[in-house]
Amino acid sequence: MGNLITLGDDDFKMSNGLTDVFIDYMLISGSELAKTDSEKRLTAFLAECDQNYRGLGTIGFHIDKMPWDKESFDADKRFMLGAIKHARELTYDEKIWDMLMYQPNHEHIEYALDGFERLISKMCKADIKDDILKEWLHDYGNYGGSVKCLRHDTIMSVCGCKLCGDGCKDRHPITY
Ligand SMILES: [Zn+2]
Repeated sequence: MGNLITLGDDDFKMSNGLTDVFIDYMLISGSELAKTDSEKRLTAFLAECDQNYRGLGTIGFHIDKMPWDKESFDADKRFMLGAIKHARELTYDEKIWDMLMYQPNHEHIEYALDGFERLISKMCKADIKDDILKEWLHDYGNYGGSVKCLRHDTIMSVCGCKLCGDGCKDRHPITY
């Protein structure tokens, strides 16, 4: 069991527990930093990686299946790399430990963030599948990063709030 994150022939694997930690930190970081619609969609995609909702070991994904937008790819890639950098800082933030009610194992979370950073760095505009954004908007467009959890201020997905962990629907629209 575990979850595999892949791009082409490169990948990294996380245990189910580490996956949850990795998604928590990327979600908090992305939710703080996302300004544009495409940045919010990429963060909402991470919020969908909710093992409480979808089941353990079911949320591995291909980097090129994220809802990338060809129009804003360069800026969105910079956003993702910035969100990874900020996530590293947040793993030392005691306020975040209190909110999550656990402290991360730094060696493990660094491994996950290193792997994700390596794959995001390799992602190119040419890797974006033609209909990937259209399909994602069709399936998840109603939750396309436009709502945040009232309690955690994190972007919600079709799974509700990842941090509430109970399919929480206590949401408010993001003001642009
Ligand atoms: Zn919440």
